[in-house]
Amino acid sequence: MLKQRTLSTLTKAVGVGLHSGRRVELTLRPAPPDTGIVFRRIDLPVPVDIPVNALSVSDTRLASTLSAQGVRVITVEHLMSACCGLGIDNLYIDINAEEVPILDGSAASFVFLLQSAGIALQAAPKRFIRVLKEVRVEHGVGQQLKWASLSPHHGFKLSFQIDFAHPAVDSTGQAVEFDMGQNSYVREIARARTFGFTRDVESMRSNGLALGGGLDNAIVMDDYKVLNAEGLRYDDEFVKHKILDAMGDLYILGKPLLAAYSAFRSGHELNNRLLRALIDEPSAFEVVTFDDESKAPQGLAQLAPAW
Ligand SMILES: [Zn+2]
Repeated sequence: MLKQRTLSTLTKAVGVGLHSGRRVELTLRPAPPDTGIVFRRIDLPVPVDIPVNALSVSDTRLASTLSAQGVRVITVEHLMSACCGLGIDNLYIDINAEEVPILDGSAASFVFLLQSAGIALQAAPKRFIRVLKEVRVEHGVGQQLKWASLSPHHGFKLSFQIDFAHPAVDSTGQAVEFDMGQNSYVREIARARTFGFTRDVESMRSNGLALGGGLDNAIVMDDYKVLNAEGLRYDDEFVKHKILDAMGDLYILGKPLLAAYSAFRSGHELNNRLLRALIDEPSAFEVVTFDDESKAPQGLAQLAPAW
């Protein structure tokens, strides 16, 4: 039987929130089978649990925000991406502020934390959401068009195209495909950092956002070039970060997908609309388990190797 996964032991991280600039502590703890991933705001007089599911997404303007009982946790997507990449089904995430720390701007630090704690198999079947027919969402027309889709696939793969008219982005790949069955999330996707432009950072700061952002947790560009002295981690780091974000946004569904995701200029908002479109269409998916591990798709059955 292909089993659910949690952590072997708890692990902690300290960092700052990208938007709030506030120091935050995170404790990742093992959780029983069929718990899913649950954020717990432990800084409140009475701790509040925020379960990760598509309907708990309450804001997607700059990051994916989850809410429950009037309490929120923001910028969850990079941590969710690491959980997706490593196939973590059950996890408690205790957090003492409302924003997940940005760490190095990628999912690499979360992958390292999860792998250091160790991944434990649990005595319950891993449940996947298998997409049975295409679901597609789009926004805008002409030059403003964005879209995202899920279609049937025995495995999980993503293809993403961006369209940034910027010399530094244009000189790198604007499209990438990532297949969990053939490629390594840890090596090829997890290290891709978020990115931003100096002109946007200034206007965001004046609105009290991106207060924790800087060259140590983002690729920062002026109108012509990348300003980080060390350059890029991957030749096509920008579009790979969009794959990283999409994996995190889609993992908010609450179960891993068996599907092919395709997207053109998508983002957190469209990714969440895609999940809601899927769950609104009961004939478009089914929940499956694998009694025989050898029937499970490649890359989803095996534990991700360490670095
Ligand atoms: Zn991101």
